[in-house]
Amino acid sequence: DVPALLPTVGAGESVPLVGGRRAGYVHLDNAASAPALARVAAHVTEVLPAYASVHRGAGYLSQLCTGLYEQARETVGRFVHARPDDVVVLTRNTTDALNLLASAVPGEVVVLDVEHHANLLPWTSASGRPARVVRSAPTLAGTEASLAAELAHRPAALLAVTGASNVTGEVPDLRRLVRLAHAHGARVVVDAAQLLPHRGFDLAALDADYVAFSGHKAYAPFGAGALVGRRDWLDAAEPHQAGGGAVRRVGVSDGTTATDWATSPERHEGGTPNVLGALALAEALRVLEATGLDRVRHHEAALHRRLVDGLRARGLEPLRLWDDPSDVVGVVSFTVPGWRAAQVAAYLSAEHGVGVRDGRFCAHPLLARLGVDDGAVRASLGVGSSSADVDRLLAALDALLRDGPRWTYASDGATCRP
Ligand code: PMP
Repeated sequence: DVPALLPTVGAGESVPLVGGRRAGYVHLDNAASAPALARVAAHVTEVLPAYASVHRGAGYLSQLCTGLYEQARETVGRFVHARPDDVVVLTRNTTDALNLLASAVPGEVVVLDVEHHANLLPWTSASGRPARVVRSAPTLAGTEASLAAELAHRPAALLAVTGASNVTGEVPDLRRLVRLAHAHGARVVVDAAQLLPHRGFDLAALDADYVAFSGHKAYAPFGAGALVGRRDWLDAAEPHQAGGGAVRRVGVSDGTTATDWATSPERHEGGTPNVLGALALAEALRVLEATGLDRVRHHEAALHRRLVDGLRARGLEPLRLWDDPSDVVGVVSFTVPGWRAAQVAAYLSAEHGVGVRDGRFCAHPLLARLGVDDGAVRASLGVGSSSADVDRLLAALDALLRDGPRWTYASDGATCRP
């Protein structure tokens, strides 16, 4: 048996099932948002009284709050192994971080067709040209060759690549991709939304230029994420959020404003920041660090094997992108013949209290390429997951395959009468 590695809030909470029964909730949707760690919840409660304006007030609580916020920034930088001259901009989430970088890229961006929309849609260059999308091949080597051809064909400023697919959990060879992009004069940003909570991240060792991620997938509540990386582009860009805090001096001359913008990170953090979000994020990263990312990896690998083996034993083959991924995190998508994904997900929730996600996972081009335009079911693991959770899902699928649902689910997943 594999128990949860770390306690999370809400684990096993009793939820209503159709027909009036109740059951302990099983959260297998960590890839969307992972429940907060119990230690993170405790930390937020502890720091809540230190609630005062950051970077502005002279009062004791303001100073304390400012200190904690800047410590959180340092923790984020340390967790991703930022280099001394890298900037840590605290953002709302990965989407926000990638949009910020998009406004700073001094040229075109190349992406693969496997990306989450957050790493596809922001990359419209200043000239109005959207991202150049390269079709990935069945192998990593083939995919890299296609990328190399695209970068050689026309220079690009940036290669934006996922750290781990939010659909298949597969991890490309980031080291090789960084080398390839740099050889063609392009920088690299890694969308680590799915990778970082499961493997950590080492900006310096990878020699990547930027990393973006979200706290709510890393066991902290919503609303805080980060963009970490090279200073020059960020300092040359227009402020992401113009306003108080982003500027050193403002004057009015000839009836208009004259601004001397601050350098990064302040330049991009105008307005009062999400201090509690940043503190929660930093605490989650500290707990992951203290637990050990090797232990996180082993825990998840055991559960991932159990899940994949269990699905295969039932004739349900997980979706795959590459024959040779360099690693796979605990994200598994599949379809159940005869049932629409939305029906399966509704059934799992309503009759078994198992929370998964269904749909096209904000990765429409990838789902189309995998031939599942109708969507798939995704189960995703985290440090709060246990083998009992995986077994509940598998037993629920057994019941579906054997008996069908006790209730009827419309094709959009809505629950109907028994
Ligand atoms: N990239 C990937 C790979 C993701 O899985 C997600 C979230 N599903 C995002 C980016 C966007 O994250 P957020 O919604 O927190 O901005």
